[in-house]
Amino acid sequence: MHPVNGLHHVTALASGARGHDAFFRDRLGLRRVKVTVNFDAPDVYHLYYGTGDGQPGSVWTAFPFPRAARGARGVGEASETAFAVPPGALPFWKDRLGGREEERMGERRLAFEGPDGESLALVETADPREPVAGPVPPGAAIRGFHSVTLRLRDIRPTADLLGLMGYREEGREGTLTRMRIAGNGADVVDLIGDPEGPPARQSAGSVHHVAFSVPDRTAQDALRRALAGAGFRPTPPIDRDYFEAIYFRSPGGVLFEVATDPPGFARDETPDALGTALRLPRQHAHLRPMLARALEPLDGVRMEEAA
Ligand code: ZN
Repeated sequence: MHPVNGLHHVTALASGARGHDAFFRDRLGLRRVKVTVNFDAPDVYHLYYGTGDGQPGSVWTAFPFPRAARGARGVGEASETAFAVPPGALPFWKDRLGGREEERMGERRLAFEGPDGESLALVETADPREPVAGPVPPGAAIRGFHSVTLRLRDIRPTADLLGLMGYREEGREGTLTRMRIAGNGADVVDLIGDPEGPPARQSAGSVHHVAFSVPDRTAQDALRRALAGAGFRPTPPIDRDYFEAIYFRSPGGVLFEVATDPPGFARDETPDALGTALRLPRQHAHLRPMLARALEPLDGVRMEEAA
């Protein structure tokens, strides 16, 4: 067994950057912890939101492709991302967001959509993690991720993979199987079996990949070897500036990443200034004048060369 430490981040596709930014900051109250660009498509932002200084297990990230069509939820994707909120917080959030109250595995939850139709939820749970400081009162504020839900034709191979990563089956409810690990708090992956459903169509509002946390490169290497030994094809480690990442396709079709907790988002900005200036990967630094003109301006983000 080569345990991960729960979720690290969840990355989605979006359309406009401004609407996405406003929703995740002003409505959900997350902190913007980094504004950079997609390594492989530097004319597209990579936006990061989370609690604290971007605590692993709390970080929602997005690639906003301007005017991208909306994707469709279906089978073969991470069909919902859920955040943890304190017990008793749901009425506050229902007033704020609308949405639909549900219960799953004995937990009260509010399911709602983001600006591009993202399937999101808030789950009431006693969670020792620090609340994000922002527009939402601490008694209701998000503590980090609760879970992701994967909707799959056949959950068994993915349950086995999660077992290799250290998760244990906690229980079942209807077509849902809950996998849990004792990790950073973002400890749950729910698997829903849906053999007949339509395939997901990945575009704006879809989750692009789900990243799991490991403490360091040594743990990542060990897991990478175990994955390769089990027949998966993880990439070599890739330096993503704020973490080192490997990627591989999980059996149900969802792209998985395993990301190191260090160096973190304070690598190139002071902790109190996170997310207030456009940061560029070294290989794209020369594009700054063009990007400062072409990228959608965001409130509170300096586009020119940082001092
Ligand atoms: Zn990622």
